[in-house]
Amino acid sequence: MKCRVCRGPAVVDVRRANANFCPDHFLRFCRDQVDRAIGEFAMIAPGDRVLVAVSGGKDSLAVWDLLLELGHDVEGFYVGLGIGDYSDVSGQHARRFAASRGLVLHEVDLPEEYGFDIPEGSRAARRAPCSACGTSKRHLFDRAAIEGGFDVLVTGHNLDDEAAVLFGNVLHWQTDYLARQAPVLPASNGFPRKVKPLVRLSERETAAYCIVKGIDYLVEECPMSAGNKHIGYKDALNDIELRSPGTKADFYFGFLRRAAEQFRSGATGGDAAGLGRCDRCGSPSEAELCAFCRLVDRATTDRHSRSVPPAPVEIQLGTTRSNEDPR
Ligand code: SF4
Ligand SMILES: [Zn+2]
Ligand SMILES: [Zn+2]
Repeated sequence: MKCRVCRGPAVVDVRRANANFCPDHFLRFCRDQVDRAIGEFAMIAPGDRVLVAVSGGKDSLAVWDLLLELGHDVEGFYVGLGIGDYSDVSGQHARRFAASRGLVLHEVDLPEEYGFDIPEGSRAARRAPCSACGTSKRHLFDRAAIEGGFDVLVTGHNLDDEAAVLFGNVLHWQTDYLARQAPVLPASNGFPRKVKPLVRLSERETAAYCIVKGIDYLVEECPMSAGNKHIGYKDALNDIELRSPGTKADFYFGFLRRAAEQFRSGATGGDAAGLGRCDRCGSPSEAELCAFCRLVDRATTDRHSRSVPPAPVEIQLGTTRSNEDPR
């Protein structure tokens, strides 16, 4: 197996590009894919302050590293979800990465600052763990980006993630979701600008990037992921990709090129411009209380078996810097 660029020994094959790469040229391939995605979708402007949502997994650490390599000004934001050892270890990976490079990592701990963890939130709200978790993370990421004055919020969604979400939305003809599925969501009415610079890289490639670059990421799956529909969609797409390399990218980028606009122009709901504000936290909301504040109420009421909701909580961004103990 030889590198397509230099003919030296290759260590990674990228089947959909029909190419093999040596370590250096694979890293360059990944940088080029991210640079291309940023340019193609006008994700980040020069001088933008960028906040990346960091989980300690391969995608968020890879995207943080790649954005730094491309010269962007990036800080990290980590949410402690209270999912037992998984959260403890994921936090350690995020802190170690930041400390080793002298980066700023902001942190919010859900149990400490809001009085509940994801398993409790899921039970109290009678919702799947990933649903309670998604509500919490979206809310906390959005607020951290807005209150920190960042121009862009970056997430580590890769090609596999986006193709799986698209697959699910198409299987169930979720047309409002299809109208909103894009690698860039512009800032609007209290929501920050959100971008996904890894859309041109697969999950396997972001993992390979971390291995080649020596980035120590959390390999274990979240123990609450069982039953997550998107894992099934990913498996189905991987079966197809194995037989027909390139199908995943064709599916996703074909949608963006040929169909996304039609769903956007026919969309009926989800217009952030018409939203009010949450009475408690001020976030954009259709109801008096936003989904996150309602979840806080239900989870903490359940935990303490009392009916009085907790006092409003102001988000406080704790900051870990490289010279602090990374534990
Ligand atoms: S798998 Fe579900 S519960 Fe676990 S971190 Fe992801 S979204 Fe949260
Ligand atoms: Zn090479
Ligand atoms: Zn709220």
